[in-house]
Amino acid sequence: MELKVLGSVSPYPHNGKYGVANLIEEDGYKILLDVGPGSTSLLNMKEDLNNLIIVISHLHKDHYADLLPLAYASYVYKKFGYLNKKIPVYIPYGDKRKNIKSYFYANSWGTEKELKLDKLEDYEFLKSFNKDNYLDFIDYDYNTNIIHGPLNITFNETVHPIKTYSAKVTNSENSIVYSSDTGYKDNGLVNFSKDADLLLCESTFLRGQPKDKDEHLFAYEAGLIAKDANVGELLLTHFWPEEDKQKYVDEAKENFLNTSFAEENKVYKIGEK
Ligand SMILES: [Zn+2]
Ligand SMILES: [Zn+2]
Repeated sequence: MELKVLGSVSPYPHNGKYGVANLIEEDGYKILLDVGPGSTSLLNMKEDLNNLIIVISHLHKDHYADLLPLAYASYVYKKFGYLNKKIPVYIPYGDKRKNIKSYFYANSWGTEKELKLDKLEDYEFLKSFNKDNYLDFIDYDYNTNIIHGPLNITFNETVHPIKTYSAKVTNSENSIVYSSDTGYKDNGLVNFSKDADLLLCESTFLRGQPKDKDEHLFAYEAGLIAKDANVGELLLTHFWPEEDKQKYVDEAKENFLNTSFAEENKVYKIGEK
């Protein structure tokens, strides 16, 4: 099983660094976990579109913005005869907002009017996003188990303002857990990533930076999770675009030594295969 990092920063791409995106592959079966802004530039078009499934951890745009160019590419490659089957795109089911207040502060120009929306607009947008593309949108939730060739994917809900899932990808011997975005308290990651070979974990903040709500992790918290879960290796991601990635690694290492940062275009081999 191989992990190729296509993107490791949020919320915008910067100088060769792209929005969070992770391509896992075994025997030609590919899973793209999130597809942040600019990350498709590191896909190997058109080959990577074949035998690919896409899993979006949650519908924040820093995790799915490049679905748009990818959708356009799928349409063109289908027309040219390179793609003969729609690319499945798994998105969190329903996606009811959990925190109506914080959403409206950000979206209603200061008024706190509660609109009666069951579903996030991004969900509605993607569900009807089927013109000029060759994608197939499929809902998933914490119960879903996806099998893609030798790879198996399961999910665990995180602590974040909208429905967000960590994903665990396993083959017969090894496992990679991708945290996606999550707060620290009650996030369930320690259990979910217990003894995983690799934990690919968000580390949005450095100690001292303002984390007013527990919706993301400090780097040292990612280190604590890795230690408590007894994972083999911790790979940090979801950095501020201009920040020095080594700072996050140094902070996480206070708690977990085998830590490094996710680097665009680098391939990480998991297990002996
Ligand atoms: Zn998010
Ligand atoms: Zn994010």
